[in-house]
Parts: sequence; structure tokens; C-alpha cells
Amino acid sequence: MPPKMPPRGPLPPAAPAPADALAERLAVLQAELPAGNWLNAASGAEALYAQAKAAGRLGLAAEAGLVAAKALFNLDQLERAESWCSRALDEARDGAGGTLRPALWVVAAAVRGRLEQVSGAIDAVNRALGLLDDGVPAGVRRTVYFGVAITYRALGLWRHALDAWRAAADADRHHDATGGAGLTMSLANFVETSLRAHDDLAGIAPEAAARLLQDAAAVAAELAAALTTLSSPWLRFLAGHAIGGVAWRSGRFDEGCRTLRGALAERGDFPVAAVGAVQLELARALDGNGDRAGAKVAADAARRLLERDSPSPNGLRPVPCLHDLWRAEQLCGSATRALAQLAELHARLMRNTLALLDVQVAGLVREVTAQTLRLHNTELREANDGLMRRVEDIRRLAGTDSLTGVLNRRALDASWSELRSGVPELAMVMIDIDHFKAVNDQHSHVVGDLALQRVAAVLGARLRGLDRVGRWGGEEFAMLLPHTGLAAACAAAERLRRDVEAQDWQALAPGLAVTISAGVVATRPDESFEEAVARADALLYRAKREGRNRVVGEAVGDGAWRADALLQGGSEVDG
Ligand code: GH3
Ligand code: MG
Ligand code: MG
Repeated sequence: MPPKMPPRGPLPPAAPAPADALAERLAVLQAELPAGNWLNAASGAEALYAQAKAAGRLGLAAEAGLVAAKALFNLDQLERAESWCSRALDEARDGAGGTLRPALWVVAAAVRGRLEQVSGAIDAVNRALGLLDDGVPAGVRRTVYFGVAITYRALGLWRHALDAWRAAADADRHHDATGGAGLTMSLANFVETSLRAHDDLAGIAPEAAARLLQDAAAVAAELAAALTTLSSPWLRFLAGHAIGGVAWRSGRFDEGCRTLRGALAERGDFPVAAVGAVQLELARALDGNGDRAGAKVAADAARRLLERDSPSPNGLRPVPCLHDLWRAEQLCGSATRALAQLAELHARLMRNTLALLDVQVAGLVREVTAQTLRLHNTELREANDGLMRRVEDIRRLAGTDSLTGVLNRRALDASWSELRSGVPELAMVMIDIDHFKAVNDQHSHVVGDLALQRVAAVLGARLRGLDRVGRWGGEEFAMLLPHTGLAAACAAAERLRRDVEAQDWQALAPGLAVTISAGVVATRPDESFEEAVARADALLYRAKREGRNRVVGEAVGDGAWRADALLQGGSEVDG
């Protein structure tokens, strides 16, 4: 819902240089941005940058670089935008760059977020925030918080985004050069993000969700009071979205529908994802009001709009768009597609949250290390050591599957990168528990969870030094076996299959029997993790088709390796 342009607030004031041709040119180019003339702004700013540098005006060159980066970001030329950010940051290093650097870091954050460079984006956010000391003017402060909020929101880190929207609104209240437009935008965005956080929490933490809605309602009331005086259609659209969203969630369905329809009636060249989000709100309000047919029509319109939102260069949809898309699919009655969207959403949120955790842990480690070096007092040193161990615990937890204690998917991914570049031979085994749905159905989910833990323990029991086992998904595991050829890997998988089968499952639950199937490949030096998984998965699927409780290795020469035949042939070397 926010505009694509991150810093919508006033630009940092140009250096109070005497009016000259270069400064005038800069002002003209800066004015091109809000007017949407991004191509002009980009090419003009690139030329101005060269002229300013030639004239030794580094501060002005950096300002030109900022204009170029913003314009290129809006044009979706992200690599070029990023390179202008780093160039301008170099120019702004010394001299008059005091207020420019935070603004540049914020644009860098938005660009990296859009490029799905999650850690880089969070790092840029932290740098921008780290530059905000008391001396920074409110206008710059506002620009930075607003951009930070946009970056966090794009990553689906709603709570962090909320803090930043609130800080942006505070800065707007103290300094407003935009006649109230900036404040309205911050407040409307605050409510929009609150509602997303609310919806995620509604099912699992109703009290926390209720508090979010209460805060959002107070802000929505403020927006409603200002609504009639808002002159721009875009602002009325944003405010209507916020007010309508709060109304129907508070049980005032008619008011919600009316306000949301009002927002949709505003005319303007609004981003498709923003319009899709309001259509979805309308669909949900109608659904809540019992109008199933109307809800379906609105949800279908929402879905078509959301699907038009442009994915990032690597084909990923923005998280907020995914967040809306799965609900729209659900209301349209496409349960399977909704589930797929939801799964992707969760994977992305998990990755982004872990990236945030990583950056925070890394920062904490740096701080604690520096502090320990400064300390002479042994007691404090010991306290710091304890802190460092806790930090290490957090780092380890971030790579562990909480139910089974084996690696999680992200840690598997990291192991792959580490092992694939480090060893000549690397085998992969994909394992899936047989008829696990029936285990849950016949013996309860609790027994299902215990069985999962037991299988994970069996898989972990035979690991050698560099071997890795992790949970790939629900009841699927992946193993990476370095220095292991195909035949040896098949034999290892077959031993694990027998180990699992031989467990005393009856002791866990009478009548319970658990077996696994596995697919085994020797990975290729040039293939990606996903490619190797796909090949192993295909063999796993074959093992299922051929009756389950078996291991199938990839074809070599005249057919697939059959691990059972291999072992019966006497080549087993039990380890
Ligand atoms: P197949 O032999 O073809 O693999 O059959 P299946 O029933 O195992 O396959 P399917 O993939 O259809 O079902 C997997 C089931 O695993 C569905 C889901 O309920 C269950 N499951 C996934 N994660 C967990 C979990 O964390 N705990 C429990 N108890 N069950 C889970
Ligand atoms: Mg499965
Ligand atoms: Mg299964």
C-alpha cells in the first residue's frame, strides 16, 4: 500500500550554497521525483553528478547520486540504483554529507529489500538508524523512519514496521512541511500494518491482537476526522483503507463496506497491489456480513489485481502481496492454491525473521566482544562470557528444528553451500515417512509427533563427522553425506530404513508401525541444492510407487540402484 518511492518526505535541505547553476539544476531534478518524471530525473542526475564531481562539489555530487538512486528504484532498475547508493555514500563520506547519509542508507535498504537481499537490507536499515543522533533535523528523521518502515513492511516484519511508522508519525507531528500529507500517510500506513499484524495474531494470541486493533482504532478515528479535508485522492484512498479495515474488524460491517467502496471509487494511478489489498478488505467485510456471493466477486477482483503486482527480479512476490493473495484465493474457494501461497508466505517470513535475528546476533557479538576486550574486571568478564554463550545458543537455535532437534531447512541450505564447495563427493538422501497421515489419524497427532522425534533420533544416531541430517518439511528429512559415493550412500540409507523399521513402535502406541522410504543421489558439482533435492525427490516418489518401505538410488548404467539387492549381494559394511 505505501507508494513505491520510499522517502516521500521533504528531501534534506540542499547545502546553503549561494545560488548557482549546479544547485539550481539539482533543485529542478529533485522536483521531478514527486512529479513522477523518473526517467528525466535519473538521466539528469547522472549527468549532474559528473559535472559536480568535476567542479569538486562532492556534497552536491552525492545529492545528485541520491536523486539518481531514488529515480532508478522507482523505475525498477535496482542494480543501477544500488550502485548509485554506494557511489553517493562514498562521496558523502566526508564534508557536507551529515544529513545525506541516513537518506542514502534508507534508499539502499529499500533497494536491497526489493532485491530480496534480506540481510543486506536489514544491515542498511540499522546503519540509517545508527546515524540518527540528536543533531539530525526532523525532516530527515521522518524520511529515515518512513523508509525503514517500508523496508520492514516489505519483508513482512510487521512489528518492526509498526515501531518505525509510529516514529515517522511523531517526526511528522513535530515538523511538517507537507501541510499534513506526510502525517496522514504515516498514520494510514501505521493502521494498515497494524491490521496485518492483528490478523496474523488473531488466531493464536487474541489478547495481543485485540490490543493492536485498539491502537489502530484510535489512529483510524484521527484519520476519519481529517478525511473530508484531504485534498489528494491517494491520501483519501489510504485513509479509507485504514478506516474501513478497522470498522469491519470491529464488527461494523456496513460502515466498513461503505468506506472501502469509497476508497475504491477514488480515481488515480494507484499501485495494483494497493487496490488489490482494498478489494480484499471489501471481500472480507462482505464475507463477515454474510454476503458470500458479493465476497467472492470482490475476492476474485482482488486476486486478479494482486497477481499483476510485479515480482522482484528473481521472480518472488513481495511478502505483503503474498499475505493478501492467499486470503484472496481462500475466499475464491481455491483451497489448494491458497495453501501453496500460505506455505510460501511462511517460508519467506521464517527466512526474513531468521535473517533479522542473524544480523542482531552478529551486532550483539561485536558489541560484547569489544566490551570484553575493554574490561579488566574479572566478574564483568565472566558475565560477558555468559552473555556470549547465550548469544551462541540463540544462533544454534536459529538453525535447529524445534520439534525434532535436527537441523532446520535453513541450516540444511547453509550445510549444502558449505559441503558442496568443500568436498569432491557428496551424496543426498531424501526420506519420507510412509503413510504418516494414517499414523496421525489412527493414533493422534501427539503420537505422530513422538514418532517424528524417534525417526529423527534414528537418522541422527549413525551420523559420521561431516554428515548432516535436517527436517525438510512436515515428515520429510534430508541427509547430506560427504565423501560418500552412490553405492555407499544407498547402503547407508538402507541401514537407516531397517533401523527405523526395527524400532519398538508398539511401545509408543499399540498397533503402531513406522517405516520410511528414501531416494538417493550422488550430487553433481554444478547443480543447485534445489536441483539435487528435485532429483532425490523423484526417486523417493518412485520408492513410494513401488510399495514404500524401500530405498531407490539414481540410475547408473543399466538401471536404478536397488539398495536392498545391494545389501543382499553381500556388500554391506555395517558402520
Ligand atoms: P506417503 O506414504 O505417500 O508419504 O503418505 P503420507 O500419508 O505420509 O503422505 P502425506 O504427505 O499425504 O501426509 C503427510 C502427513 O504428515 C500430513 C500431515 O498431517 C503429517 N504431518 C506433517 N507435519 C507433521 C507434524 O509436525 N506432526 C505430525 N504429527 N504430523 C505431521
Ligand atoms: Mg510427505
Ligand atoms: Mg509421507
